[in-house]
Amino acid sequence: MRTLIRNVRIFDGSGSAPRAGAVLVDGERIARVGDAADALDGEAADRIIEGDGRTLMPGLVDAHTHLTWASSIEKIYHQFILPPEELKVAAWRNARVLLDQGFTSLYSAGTLVDGIEPDLAAAIEAGETPGPRLVPSTIERSPEGDEGVDTGNVFNGRGAEAMRGFVRHCADVGVRSIKLVVSGEDALKPGTAQHVLYTEEEMVAAREATREAGLWIAAHAYYPDAVNLALDAGARVIYHASYADDATVARMIAEKDNFFYAPGPGVSVGALEASPPPHIDMSAMKASAADRLEREAKLVPALKAGGVRVLIGGDYGFPFNPNGRNARDLEHFVNHYGYTPAEALVAATRLGGELMGLDVGQVREGWLADLLLVDGDPTADVAILQDAARLAMIMKGGALHKAPAAAEAA
Ligand SMILES: [Zn+2]
Repeated sequence: MRTLIRNVRIFDGSGSAPRAGAVLVDGERIARVGDAADALDGEAADRIIEGDGRTLMPGLVDAHTHLTWASSIEKIYHQFILPPEELKVAAWRNARVLLDQGFTSLYSAGTLVDGIEPDLAAAIEAGETPGPRLVPSTIERSPEGDEGVDTGNVFNGRGAEAMRGFVRHCADVGVRSIKLVVSGEDALKPGTAQHVLYTEEEMVAAREATREAGLWIAAHAYYPDAVNLALDAGARVIYHASYADDATVARMIAEKDNFFYAPGPGVSVGALEASPPPHIDMSAMKASAADRLEREAKLVPALKAGGVRVLIGGDYGFPFNPNGRNARDLEHFVNHYGYTPAEALVAATRLGGELMGLDVGQVREGWLADLLLVDGDPTADVAILQDAARLAMIMKGGALHKAPAAAEAA
């Protein structure tokens, strides 16, 4: 199947301004990128999509996704833990919702149930259910008890051997990225964000075991000690890091090629905006969110200036921050971190593609054809990406998830 998408303005993911062009997709990849609206009109194609001057850009990549945090723009759940069958329905739906919103790749930041995401990733890959490309994860691991004491499961034992057992288990069930909660979380348990939950020995064991098994590490870390442990462990992506001090920032910049960073403003802004019913006290969550955003307003620009690859993805899945709103992160990058719209788009496309480790996130010959056709210019206003009605086309791997009304047979 060859698809010609003609007469578009191409935002290619590099950050340069959109330019007139056309794209030929052959199978699942981009075969040619032409530099004029009609440049590829002579190419044989099975299908021609008339762009009408709309913007063609790479599909979005979310770096911090929780598909088992059940709430989405289509269905809000007020309880966090669901019966297994309902949780599966929610996770499967959330994958489709994210694709409907223009996200063609997701890097999971952990789940509530073991094994669910490898199943979902396989079902998506097999074409059994619609969804983005997914790096599947497992239960977010935080250790408890004492070393050598059997906690009865692989998800929270102490010591290097317990960590190795956890990684072996994850590799066996098809997980590709493990999630380590290295810091506590003020929003859930006030005063715990400064706690460091792992030892150096455990983190080094995680590093060795994941390297051996070919897995990646995603680390939740707020304070310098936790961020440093995550770097020691060779984490592929570090979340939050809101309280990194000058020395930690310097180390992050020095080691910028070894990891990605996703601050996650979505959950903070969502918490601040939320007006919960009287029986739910969100005051600690709101105070923490305001403090984090204020710190990140200085931290994120400094890390970006130092060349750290900063990504979007903001812990969506709460009732006040449901799955499907993920494109709000782009606007938060502009409003809170001083990004230009084009810079936010690069974070959400090319840099996200690098995190996935796939040929995605760019409109480039040979790259996978994960493409959006957008009504309007997101480099002028990233907020338009929050309106799925403006996504005239959503293509993943050359297949149309959403076809433009005007798609016609050649
Ligand atoms: Zn998270």
